[in-house]
Amino acid sequence: MNNTQIIENQRTQQETTVVRQTKRPRDYQQIGIYKDVNPLDWEDWHWQLKHRIRTKDALLQIIKLTPEEESGIDKAKGKLSMAITPYWVTLIDQEDTDCPIRRQSVPVAAEYVISPHEMTDPCAEDRDSPVAHLVHRYPDRVLLLATEHCAMYCRHCTRRRLVGDDMQEEVASALRFDAAIEYIKSNKKVRDVLISGGDPLTLEDEVLEALIQKVRAIPHVEFLRLGTRVPVTLPQRITEKLVTMLKKYSPIWMSIHFNHPKEITRRCKNACDMLTDAGIPLGSQTVLLKGINDRPYIMKKLVHELLQIRVRPYYIYQCDPVRGTQHFRTPVAVGINIMEKLRGHTSGYAIPTYVIDGPGGGGKIPVGPNYILSQAKGKYVLRNYKGKIYTYLE
Ligand SMILES: *Cc1c(COP(=O)(O)O)cnc(C)c1O
Repeated sequence: MNNTQIIENQRTQQETTVVRQTKRPRDYQQIGIYKDVNPLDWEDWHWQLKHRIRTKDALLQIIKLTPEEESGIDKAKGKLSMAITPYWVTLIDQEDTDCPIRRQSVPVAAEYVISPHEMTDPCAEDRDSPVAHLVHRYPDRVLLLATEHCAMYCRHCTRRRLVGDDMQEEVASALRFDAAIEYIKSNKKVRDVLISGGDPLTLEDEVLEALIQKVRAIPHVEFLRLGTRVPVTLPQRITEKLVTMLKKYSPIWMSIHFNHPKEITRRCKNACDMLTDAGIPLGSQTVLLKGINDRPYIMKKLVHELLQIRVRPYYIYQCDPVRGTQHFRTPVAVGINIMEKLRGHTSGYAIPTYVIDGPGGGGKIPVGPNYILSQAKGKYVLRNYKGKIYTYLE
């Protein structure tokens, strides 16, 4: 072999390693504290929840922490405290402090820097809440906040005002939604109910079923969606029992929060397959995050991999101006450029809508490249994805 071939070989090997890292979490048994865990426990979602990483000492047994992380963890008490499932921890790259998995889950001191324009409730959800646990912004659909808990607390969470205080036990019953159910019953225009939170899939099957049943029993509710991140942060939660239950209440759609190709592991694919095979259409919702998915090639890889696991990219959100998230926010131009690099360059099915949730309660507003160059009396001058100009006469 000559030198060029050797270098080529090394490069191919390196690329293979990179690809493999994005596909396979570290085998959990290679991680000291998990080496004796029984595979049946590992696959048990209650075990995963119970063994979440909640303290600095626990995390230090798995990764070395930077001073910014240590101080962030010390401060993250009460709301949006740190909680990382053992499964998610296996996806963290120990060597890379910028690892996208790590940055989404490990608090940093920057979360305690509050920038101008940042708000506690940027989308004014509390103002648009007619009864407890319900946000009614659009004429025909409502958002029902079913729980304040998640499997993992994302550091960019837009509902950090509500979510993640695990000291506060919830009344584990569907009774607390009675006012919300009554409200939907008495509003005949509501045809679509989005159950989110927190993460509704952290509720026990029986509690979730009782809620879904009540919503589905309302005659004018045509369909129901679940907003969740569980297939990504706790895929063990997607059990046969759960999907059999959900299937009974078809049509149910699901929006899953995906941010980076590294999240699409075989285990996650397996969970998504179970949902899709049960007739639940899956969509993804992605938050544009600085240093995580703000490069067009990463977003393209993400949307391509999503299609391969039968998840339709639905939205890319501009990161809401919620308090303490400045370090995650990119300029809007970054998002527009990503959309420019997608449309025309790849399958239409791979292209989500980039939206800004109007601060103060405007709802989701689509933003993107402008393809209409001029518009006058029956004549549209348009450009295509290559910049070529076309005229359409009405
Ligand atoms: C996002 C959202 C919805 C659902 O919006 P779609 O564009 O239909 O997905 C409904 N209500 C509220 C308050 C929302 O924030």
